[in-house]
Amino acid sequence: MRTRFVNLRIPAAGNDARAAEILVEDGRIVAIEPTGSALASDDEERTDLGGALVLPGVIDGHVHFDDPGFTHREDFETGTRAAAAGGVSCVVDMPCTSLPPVTSAANLHNKLEIISPKAHVDFMTWGGVCDNSMAEPDWREQLAELAAEGVASIKVYMLSGMDTFRDLGRDQLREVLTETERLGVPVGVHAEDRELVHELTDWLQSHEQNGLLDYAASRPMEAELNAVSTMRDLCRETGARVHIVHVGTGPAVDVIAEARGDGLPMSGETCPHFLAFTAEDLNEKGAVLKTAPVVKSATDRDRLWQGVVSGELDYVATDHAAGQWPEEKHTGSAWTDYGGVPGVELMLPYLYSEGVKKDRITLERLVEITASAPARFFGIERRKGRLARGFDADFVVFDKDESWTVRAADLHNMNRYSPHEGETFTGRVRSLYVRGERVFHRDRHGRESFAPPGTGEWVKRESEVA
Ligand SMILES: [Zn+2]
Repeated sequence: MRTRFVNLRIPAAGNDARAAEILVEDGRIVAIEPTGSALASDDEERTDLGGALVLPGVIDGHVHFDDPGFTHREDFETGTRAAAAGGVSCVVDMPCTSLPPVTSAANLHNKLEIISPKAHVDFMTWGGVCDNSMAEPDWREQLAELAAEGVASIKVYMLSGMDTFRDLGRDQLREVLTETERLGVPVGVHAEDRELVHELTDWLQSHEQNGLLDYAASRPMEAELNAVSTMRDLCRETGARVHIVHVGTGPAVDVIAEARGDGLPMSGETCPHFLAFTAEDLNEKGAVLKTAPVVKSATDRDRLWQGVVSGELDYVATDHAAGQWPEEKHTGSAWTDYGGVPGVELMLPYLYSEGVKKDRITLERLVEITASAPARFFGIERRKGRLARGFDADFVVFDKDESWTVRAADLHNMNRYSPHEGETFTGRVRSLYVRGERVFHRDRHGRESFAPPGTGEWVKRESEVA
């Protein structure tokens, strides 16, 4: 049976959207046609989308859904439920915030068995290398196995707060990059200078400087700039594909842009919280906005937007990481309060409202930074990230004029808080389709429905580094 989605508009060049019909069969888009090009026929079901804007399903390349191991914070059911309600048809889950961490094929399969029955949307999995795993003599074989299994990318930390996934020094990073270059899989790096951050942290703590702005001062712009510069050098040395996750400072964007100008295979992502907030907001909102890395200055924020507009930054991802609410955000010390915010449900409305509606980015660029570019980075660009013939029928039905107010209590992830609490966004997800199946819908009366967990499927990386 084919389904013909009619009465809709899809993004065209710039800010244009054109009327179209989308024909779906067996979970794939088999044609995109002009409106009225087919008469109603018996072998086609028709779904009228009421003139709505239809966008490619969002690919959130950076989420921490904590399952198994830290499921007091999030689990794969609640995390993917929030994703579905936010128009995210594919999440890419980090390897470090589940136990055992995804540092071997056996650990990957253990995790897949647990999370697959819970998934509301499609998902990819990051693999990782950490100081812990490099202590094992066969870490290179384990890494090769992960790549062969189709992990999305390999995560490493230059500064980690996790004992179960410790950070790597420069020589270790060089060893890992030498392997990933050979394997044709990219590396995603948490880039902060650990020596500098440890030094500043020790000094501040020994001087009883215990506020949130002290925490922010322990992870200054220079920490990211130094680390990204180190990665640029290692990228040049090894030729490995290097991606900087959650870029939060302006000067780091300059380094990445220059490296690309020199032909180095380097890229970066930023997150909505870095585009929306500064240290001033951290001071005002408190630990609810605490993240690692931490929000910086208004100058940094403006440079990040510029990077998103220009293409110097490849795409936007959320770094969704929800701590147990309220306990873990109110520990009595800014140093121990949980660093992380839930974000997967709000990224698309935020970027539409603050990006497209405010004329910072075009609709065309919105599609690029939320779908097409991450699809290329994760090697699924022949299957996801675009509305085109032969692609998975992953799409968002978006009410672009609906204005609504963010209430954390209405979110769908497990621990509900948001630095966007009380903000009004224009544009809201009405439905999400994954491989042709409607997995989320909010009707005119605000009643919500979800397809059962287990509807989402594991997606493997298909192509080598682009
Ligand atoms: Zn992260």
